[in-house]
Amino acid sequence: MSKYDYDLFTIGAGSGGVRASRMAANFGASVGIAEEYRVGGTCVIRGCVPKKLMVYASEFAHMFHDAKGYGWTSDKPSFNWQTLIANKDKEIDRLNSIYIRNLKNTGVDIIQSKAILKDAHTIHLTAENRDVTAKHILVATGGTPWTDSSVPGYELGVSSNEAFHLEDMPQNVVIVGGGYIAIEFAGIFKGLGADVTLVYRGSDLLRYFDKDVSAQVHMELKTKGINVVTNANIEKIEKGDGNIKAVTLTNGDHINSDLVFWAVGRAPYTQGLGLDKAGVKTKANGAIIVDEYSKTNVDNIYAVGDVTDRVNLTPVAIREGAAFAQTVFDNNPTIVDYDDIPKAVFSQPPVGSVGLAEHEARAKFDKVDIYKSDFRPMKNTLSGNQERTLMKIVVDGSTDKVVGCHIVGHEAAEMIQCIAIAVKAGLTKKDFDATIALHPTAAEELVTMREKFIAS
Ligand code: NDP
Repeated sequence: MSKYDYDLFTIGAGSGGVRASRMAANFGASVGIAEEYRVGGTCVIRGCVPKKLMVYASEFAHMFHDAKGYGWTSDKPSFNWQTLIANKDKEIDRLNSIYIRNLKNTGVDIIQSKAILKDAHTIHLTAENRDVTAKHILVATGGTPWTDSSVPGYELGVSSNEAFHLEDMPQNVVIVGGGYIAIEFAGIFKGLGADVTLVYRGSDLLRYFDKDVSAQVHMELKTKGINVVTNANIEKIEKGDGNIKAVTLTNGDHINSDLVFWAVGRAPYTQGLGLDKAGVKTKANGAIIVDEYSKTNVDNIYAVGDVTDRVNLTPVAIREGAAFAQTVFDNNPTIVDYDDIPKAVFSQPPVGSVGLAEHEARAKFDKVDIYKSDFRPMKNTLSGNQERTLMKIVVDGSTDKVVGCHIVGHEAAEMIQCIAIAVKAGLTKKDFDATIALHPTAAEELVTMREKFIAS
């Protein structure tokens, strides 16, 4: 009989916490999990999933337009924000209950409460005002949107948390930031009919992607009619008449907006968690410091997902949660491999990317070959849609290995998931060339590019 209430207590029922808890329970551990908001976490409840549904919603605007070139006519389509939000919420409720059911089916105790560490084995559950003890503790509390409180009037803006539940469709949106969330929501609101200004403090949007990707996304945002303001930031936000926020930019521009949206990053959610009481060390930004097995400096406490600020993506958190469960409860020490993780930005058109950007490859290898294709996809010919597709392959010139692939265009994310297998497997440009094209597709370009764009 264990001296603890649980073999494992997980704090946070998001992607990483749920996967770890279910696997640990399947390996025979007694498991409890605490969640203060909703089971499913950021990705399912107020992140990837509702975002993608909203991207689908906004893409219809372009499809109605494109259909005309193919002979379709229809009355002027109209959009109802309340219908979208209600249907989206229904789907999120459905997924939330599946997550709850899956946890219960594996015998995991779900406790709806904030959990605070009291020491290395004791957790206080605030909603029930009681303590539980556990042999192992897993912190999987994720991240939380950050807003810049140094800007006067910052509180008049919202973060992604609120953006999913706006009562009315905003008509004039100012989005701050040049990363994933800023780019994705700029496309969403523009497609749904709002005027959108994107304000980015730097010059290269999505600056951690390949430079060609960054330039192509910038161009496509402008083609869609989004006002992209670079090298500027928000100076102040003031309350105007009614719902209006008067936004002043550092370049002197003024915009009257009914929604200011902070998309300036997320911070690890460790505040008020009692990590100090348990002796768990964090970085300056609050991220929990872990080793390659996701173990903290305290032997029985582990952390996975965004709270550790390694690679902040849902599938990575899931993989880390699984590796933790295998290591601790299946006697199978498992390390996550972080190389060649495919990434997508659901801009319009979307970005799909795997492996090294050109500048990263040039820093790593003596000789780098680049293959590039920029074309108007067949689908956009009759429609008159100006959207283009960019494909870029980065090759280590010494070994011929494809070390990176980057696509901006229709279905880029779907394509890159498959290309990621080839890159991960270490296939060469010769292997790509040996693959017979599938015609007529956009993806066939990936196996028909023969001319080196830049040969070093
Ligand atoms: P990102 O880190 O992607 O981008 C943050 C942006 O805000 C950057 O452009 C940054 O500028 C800018 N910024 C930071 N601080 C300030 C400031 N004080 N004033 C003005 N601008 C500022 O964060 P997001 O919020 O977009 O997304 C958070 C994370 O969530 C992502 O990193 C990703 O891990 C995840 N995510 C993944 C998605 C996907 O997989 N499709 C979708 C959405 C989120 P600079 O570039 O100069 O640093």
